[in-house]
Amino acid sequence: MAGGGELTGHGGYRLILLGPPNSGKGTQAGRIAERLGIPAISTGDMLRQAVAAGTELGRRVEEILASGELVDDATMAEVVRERLREGDTRPGFLLDGYPRTLPQAETLEAILGERGEELDAAVLVEVPEEELLARALGRGRDDDTEEVLRERFRVYREKTAPLVGYYEERDLLRRVDGDRPVPEVTSRIFHALGVADQGAARSGGAAAAAARPGSSGASGGSPVASGTLAAGGHGRAVGATGKEARKR
Ligand code: ADP
Repeated sequence: MAGGGELTGHGGYRLILLGPPNSGKGTQAGRIAERLGIPAISTGDMLRQAVAAGTELGRRVEEILASGELVDDATMAEVVRERLREGDTRPGFLLDGYPRTLPQAETLEAILGERGEELDAAVLVEVPEEELLARALGRGRDDDTEEVLRERFRVYREKTAPLVGYYEERDLLRRVDGDRPVPEVTSRIFHALGVADQGAARSGGAAAAAARPGSSGASGGSPVASGTLAAGGHGRAVGATGKEARKR
């Protein structure tokens, strides 16, 4: 349905970031959004802020958040609809933590549809569950016991993982190997989106490496958009950050 991987026909970026708990989505969302000049919208952060501020929404979701379960789809629809109305989303947005269920994905499609818009890509940050568990426990966060974590993974597998197929069918899915150093994951995400990456542009090496299929059990769909954006006028030199930690 959507234009098979042609990111930016409209010169913007409407993106979502998918991935299991602790996959580093939040970190990547900030880095990507900053370089693309779009807001990173974390529904988890929004809800936590609402709780902290003691708003009506905050009071409604407080217990749910504490329990680690998902806030209901109708409430999330309100939250996201309202947030996407704000002017800073005009050039695009990067949603982190939404959608998390199939009905939420349909809602997002509807919200965008009402504005005559559609999603450009769904980036899936893939990290093996055992690695995620090791990361979290290694961090020594006592709010995340192994049991709670396993439960969060279970919810992810049951409720959120089906979104992979949903976006695959729409030709929007971009798989990225998230089991890598942070700057390298960022670089791979840019590559998957067809956004010029300074380091990659310089050497050509990182882009080629990122394009190599099979590193993440990918279905071979990712390098579709290669170079589109790079060539496409979003030429505001993507990121002075230019970190491109060469890997092993
Ligand atoms: P994570 O720690 O996995 O990054 P988030 O910070 O995205 O989790 O979200 C924290 C909590 O906020 C979730 O466990 C859930 O209770 C609630 N939440 C956030 N986004 C959604 C959503 N799209 N649907 C339902 N609940 C959500």
